Amino acid sequence: MAETIKVGVLGATGAVGQRFVEALAEHPWFEISALAASGRSAGRKYRDAANWRLESQMPEAAADVEVVPVDAKSIDADLVFSALPSDYAETVESGFAKAGCVVASNAGAFRTEPDVPLMIPEVNPEHLGLIDVQRDNRGWDGCIVTNPNCTTIMFTLTLKPLMQFGLEKVTIASMQAISGAGYDGIPSMAILENVVPYIGGEEEKVESEPLKLLGEFDGSEVIPAEFNVSASCHRVPVMDGHLEALWVGMRDDPTPEQVRQAFLDFDPGLSELPTEPEHPIIVRDEPDRPQPRLDRNAGNGMSVSVGRIREGIRYIVMGHNTIRGAAGASVLNAELMYKKGYL
Ligand code: NAP
Repeated sequence: MAETIKVGVLGATGAVGQRFVEALAEHPWFEISALAASGRSAGRKYRDAANWRLESQMPEAAADVEVVPVDAKSIDADLVFSALPSDYAETVESGFAKAGCVVASNAGAFRTEPDVPLMIPEVNPEHLGLIDVQRDNRGWDGCIVTNPNCTTIMFTLTLKPLMQFGLEKVTIASMQAISGAGYDGIPSMAILENVVPYIGGEEEKVESEPLKLLGEFDGSEVIPAEFNVSASCHRVPVMDGHLEALWVGMRDDPTPEQVRQAFLDFDPGLSELPTEPEHPIIVRDEPDRPQPRLDRNAGNGMSVSVGRIREGIRYIVMGHNTIRGAAGASVLNAELMYKKGYL
């Protein structure tokens, strides 16, 4: 392995940015060289600019770092993690890729571009091959690799071991935590003692992203998987952890026990990536699990928990939205890129 890789975090002060800082503080391969955010934060110490809201202490090494503006010309990094709002991410991320940086992005701006990998390392590691197509198409020395929407990641991980039964139709109802809306996302008076049955743009992402993720890379493009996803997304008064109810129609009509066994047998065969959980899918046999408060930190927040597997096939999935669904997902993507020589 080469020497330590210098990394920048774009949007370092936000809900996902803080998770990046937490995940990278003691990373064996990556070392933070820049924490960047908006003009509101630039020039301030990270401890003053970031309204730290995690259970863990703010890493000492980050606390005294001066936050810098998001500028590809002045940030010295081989890899940047982007936790920027999607509309702003579009120009910024391509600027970094053009300047030779590898961009591991959480934002939605590039996820649907045909030459940009949309990745879950345990699901579609071969899609990293799209980086070569992207560099040819765009003339970039760097590249952009994305991870899916936080709701998509949880249940798509569980669909991968069910592909063997012939996926036909997936129906999902999500109960999504408030941290998924970002630090300033949803006012307390709108969500306390309430459920909001609308999250703008979410259902469209949840219905399309799994088809790219579970599609086949033929060396030049991804042929989308051919099953149907129908989603209804809801915001609930939970701090962290998205819970999802799934109904999955499959050609072979497997029994609940066959589905349970497929989850238990799932071995993505990655090779010791630091952020990879020992078990990407944990099966909970208790009748009232998984639950966000009890299960979101499983596998350091990187495992998804499934339970209530019933005839139909119906089951519940739950995972930590700002770790497995965001920062942890991007870090895992970057680790795979490092291992495969893209960094
Ligand atoms: P957030 O809490 O609102 O944080 C946004 C970050 O971007 C802050 O650091 C903010 O800096 C910075 N920023 C905003 N406008 C900027 C500008 N014009 N120039 C430079 N920096 C700017 O949002 P978040 O929840 O962390 O989400 C970040 C991204 O990740 C979004 O694209 C979101 O869709 C995606 N995502 C979020 C989740 C989740 O669970 N939260 C999951 C998956 C993906 P200041 O503090 O200086 O304003």
